[in-house]
Amino acid sequence: MNKLGLQLDHKLLAHIQGALDYSPAAIIIAAAPSGEILYVNEAVRKFRGHTDSPLTGIQLEQYMMSWKEFDANGRQLSSEEMPLGVAISQGRAVDNQEIIVELDDGSRKWALASAAPIFDDDGEIIAGSVIWYDITERKQLEAKLKQEADFDCLTGVFSRHRFMESAERILERFQRDYQSMSVLMFDLDYFKDVNDYYGHAAGDEVLRSFAGIIKRGVRPSDIIGRVGGEEFVLILQGADLDIGTRIGEKLRSEVERSAITTDTGEVSITTSIGVSSPGILQQQIGHFPSLDELLANADAALYEAKHKGRNRVETTLACF
Ligand code: GH3
Ligand code: MG
Ligand code: MG
Repeated sequence: MNKLGLQLDHKLLAHIQGALDYSPAAIIIAAAPSGEILYVNEAVRKFRGHTDSPLTGIQLEQYMMSWKEFDANGRQLSSEEMPLGVAISQGRAVDNQEIIVELDDGSRKWALASAAPIFDDDGEIIAGSVIWYDITERKQLEAKLKQEADFDCLTGVFSRHRFMESAERILERFQRDYQSMSVLMFDLDYFKDVNDYYGHAAGDEVLRSFAGIIKRGVRPSDIIGRVGGEEFVLILQGADLDIGTRIGEKLRSEVERSAITTDTGEVSITTSIGVSSPGILQQQIGHFPSLDELLANADAALYEAKHKGRNRVETTLACF
């Protein structure tokens, strides 16, 4: 009989255990300081699925051989860092910690874990308990929603919201480290005519192909966002206004030369491009530009490109 069991009425213990077996939350109780697993409820068995490993009467360390826990960032936790380990070894409670549990078969589940130490009358830690809720489905749904919020489902490039977030970070870094960067704003020319002539589905196919051309033409560290129906923004890291304009010209020419196959025919498109760079813009407006100012400047250059006949790359002086 273990130390905890000795201190509880056996009949009462049996009743409590029966009730805990109905709990949808997984519950484990382990003795301190040995770490011997005293009790697991039915939900632990369900959570783990089929296993040949014994669940009680073994040490926590042994338990860990067929069981791994990671924090929400994916760092593996030692037995002392696991919520139950913290309760037993430090006598501290852990509230609602999200953990990833790797099972015997290598599959992973998310759990929300809360652990608490159990003290005897002298204040000695005699055991610890942990309760987990299986939050795997919620986490999978969150990941799916994040994916949908971050990426444009038609073209696979960043959504407006995610683009703005990443662009802010890049701009901050540019200002801190004085790296070069440039912003290219794209708008497809006469795209309404493409929809009208080839149909909306073909228009969608053209948008997908266009995004593919831009992606293939730049580095993985460059970021592309779809910020409007047929408007895209590209941030080139390490490229000043001159290089950005040259890359813009290369992309413009690739778009012009491509023939995009759709169900209703082969479509040729062109794009107008406005280029801006914080380095040059700073000299023009007298302060380091905000992201909004940078985008507005690229937009003004794009407007210039449209005005001058489309299918061209323009930079412009600031006009604030
Ligand atoms: P401009 O050269 O002045 O840019 O002319 P435009 O016809 O491209 O410009 P406008 O902004 O008037 O039209 C953009 C069109 O893009 C209108 C809209 O129907 C189309 N569009 C926007 N989003 C989508 C989309 O997701 N799929 C398709 N197929 N068309 C879209
Ligand atoms: Mg437009
Ligand atoms: Mg357009």
